[in-house]
Amino acid sequence: DRVRPFHLSQIVHEMVDFMYPRFSESNIVHSIVITPGIWVEGDPSQIKQVLLNILNNAVEELCHIQGERRINVHLTKDEAQCEVKIVNNGEQIPAYMLENIFEPFVTTKSLGTGLGLSVCKQIVEKHSGQIIVDSNNKETAFLIKLPYMAK
Ligand code: ADP
Ligand code: MG
Repeated sequence: DRVRPFHLSQIVHEMVDFMYPRFSESNIVHSIVITPGIWVEGDPSQIKQVLLNILNNAVEELCHIQGERRINVHLTKDEAQCEVKIVNNGEQIPAYMLENIFEPFVTTKSLGTGLGLSVCKQIVEKHSGQIIVDSNNKETAFLIKLPYMAK
C-alpha cells in the first residue's frame, strides 16, 4: 500500500514550484503561504494529483481574463484538520454549474474531459477529507480539508 504519513507542507510547496513555469508563461502572479510541519496520512502522489488538477484549472480559467491574473495558495491547520486553499481571481462560476462541478464529464472546455474535479473529490474523500468550492464575482476558491496528523 502507498498509504503513509507524508509532509503536506512540502508537497504543496513542490507542486507550486512545479507549476511556476506555467504561471509565468501565462502572466500569472502567485503567492504562497504555508504553515510548516503539517503531516497527513495517505498517498502523496494522489494528493499531488489533486493539487495539480486544481492549479491547472486555475491557470486555464485565468487565460480567459484580461488584466491581473492571480493565484493564491494557503495551507493552514487547526486542531482537527488542515486546509489547502487555492484561490484564483477570474469569472464567477454560475450557480447551476457549482451544483454539479464535481460530477464527471462536467466541463466548459472544448477539449475538456470534465474528469479532473471528480477524480479530486474521490481522492480527497478516500483520505477522509472534503473538497469545497466557493465562487464569487471576484474570485474562486477550492478548499481541500484533510485530517491532521500530529508528527
Ligand atoms: P476540465 O478541466 O476537463 O473541464 P474539471 O473537472 O477539472 O474538468 O473542471 C470542470 C469544470 O469546472 C471546468 O470545465 C470549468 O468550467 C470549471 N472550473 C474548474 N475550476 C475552475 C476555476 N478555478 N474557475 C472557474 N471555473 C472552474
Ligand atoms: Mg481540469
